[in-house]
Amino acid sequence: MTMLQLVGVSKSYGDQQAVSDIGIVAPAGRRTVIVGPSGSGKTTLLRLISGFERPDDGSITLDGQPLDSVPPHQRNIAYVAQEGALFPHMSVADNIGFAMPRRATDCLARIDDLLARVGLPTSMKSRRPHELSGGQQQRVALARALAQQPALMLLDEPFSALDAGLRKNMRDMVETVLREAGIASILVTHDQSEALAFADHLVVMQAGRVADAGPPQRLYDRPNTAATARFLGPAIILDGDIRDGLAHTVLGAIRVDATGSRRASILLRPEQLTVSPVQVGTSQIAEATVLSRLYQGASWRLKIACPGLDQPIDIVTSAHHVATADTVHLRVDGEGHVLPEKT
Ligand code: ADP
Ligand code: MG
Repeated sequence: MTMLQLVGVSKSYGDQQAVSDIGIVAPAGRRTVIVGPSGSGKTTLLRLISGFERPDDGSITLDGQPLDSVPPHQRNIAYVAQEGALFPHMSVADNIGFAMPRRATDCLARIDDLLARVGLPTSMKSRRPHELSGGQQQRVALARALAQQPALMLLDEPFSALDAGLRKNMRDMVETVLREAGIASILVTHDQSEALAFADHLVVMQAGRVADAGPPQRLYDRPNTAATARFLGPAIILDGDIRDGLAHTVLGAIRVDATGSRRASILLRPEQLTVSPVQVGTSQIAEATVLSRLYQGASWRLKIACPGLDQPIDIVTSAHHVATADTVHLRVDGEGHVLPEKT
């Protein structure tokens, strides 16, 4: 069953078009992530879904019911804003209790339970937000959102203010809490690796529009556009002539995921390239020169130049005996992806 659906949704602020013709489906019980650069319209989308803004055009439905005339507090949607936005004059307990249905008689027990679920000791109940760290404030904001018992949780860059180690902890915690509570979520981030790690349904935004949407692995391996390919990770994009399931490129003939005969752009991810100091059989398609190398403990990061390519390529290798200025042989693992549009 579809949970949340946006069709043809547009919104501008004055003459600033924030989002245009958005179509999104956030499936029930799933973690949807909206990823895009700053200014691409992510926060606007969440504000439209939660009801703090009204669309100029288009429809938003939750389980088939139009939300147009439903005020924010009746939408059954919780919204964790970018900075947590706790009430500064209220204690942690009051912040969380505020969001509970009025008739809740077991309020205090539930506050304790929510604190435990987000990993905070109950001794913090009487603290004010300014007596908490940034990460602790985000946990309280999550507990407050959970207290609403929403059908859908919106999270706007919830980890962006946290340092890398804490971020991963929080991400794991949020994932567990939402899964255990059976709440669908839409998380917004500008961080590609966070998006790929958290999503089971990924939407890529670019300049107020949906550039691509689908399972994260499909978007990473087989994106619709070069822009999405580059946004989600390091990309090698080659011109090629496609014939008989091979693309003929400056790196040689590469197996691709398309048939027919045409000229197209082909995506390779650097991790599909293996370097070797010697030529072995015919599986290697091209030569490259090592421009530099950086020791990383378990591996080396090489910058290599390939004839015919204007950009050097960064690759990670375990080949310890490759030195700067060496010639190496390249092998491509798997298939190149033929981008549907010419770039
Ligand atoms: P993101 O969350 O992806 O960074 P936003 O949704 O905040 O993007 O913004 C999308 C665009 O709309 C940006 O160009 C931004 O400057 C503009 N915008 C957002 N909110 C307002 C507002 N209240 N008034 C005018 N322009 C706005
Ligand atoms: Mg934003």
